[in-house]
Amino acid sequence: MKCPVCESESYEILKSKGKHSKELLLKCEECGNIYKETIIREKPVDVRIVISEFEKSKKAFVKLYPDEVLMVDDILDLDGKEVAVNSIEIKTSARVYRSPVSDIETIWASSMDIPSRVGISVDFGGRVISKKVEVDRDFEFTVGDIVKLGNIIFRINSLKTIERKVRKGFAKASVTKRVYGRPFEEQKRPAYDLTSKIKVIKSENENELDE
Ligand SMILES: [Zn+2]
Repeated sequence: MKCPVCESESYEILKSKGKHSKELLLKCEECGNIYKETIIREKPVDVRIVISEFEKSKKAFVKLYPDEVLMVDDILDLDGKEVAVNSIEIKTSARVYRSPVSDIETIWASSMDIPSRVGISVDFGGRVISKKVEVDRDFEFTVGDIVKLGNIIFRINSLKTIERKVRKGFAKASVTKRVYGRPFEEQKRPAYDLTSKIKVIKSENENELDE
């Protein structure tokens, strides 16, 4: 878009209205001239989306405008169901935090309706006790946290998210696949008890190191 007076292409958007075709009121940043432009948006396209619901995942398509910018944590409406964007895969196979829709290969999302199911593995010197727990999607697991889970007290050593291994910092339950811990002696530091917040679904096989 060019200023009709000085032909500068730098402008400030003063007003924008309309969905399919947008009417813009622009102010030239060079000469201060105020002018109108109408942009016709391209039609929405089908974008591949993989929605995870616990261990299962389903594939679908979501209609989005090619010039729209999608970000991790955005909420999309999929046939009336809300899903949260966990990760965006672009056409070069890279995973990015934000991308215009036209560059997206696959959106990785999870259903907002259900809590997150996370695996917990506590390594007692080679004997690994694993459990599956259900927590709120927004729950944060932090490396170094002391956690009480039933009769086990452990310190979180690392986390495995959909994308990477986390050795410091935290991750939201919605993107955490597994929490790795080491047993911790309660006397040294007060544990915070997650037993009430965490609902133990089932015990997995012992000695299981990974999924
Ligand atoms: Zn101008």
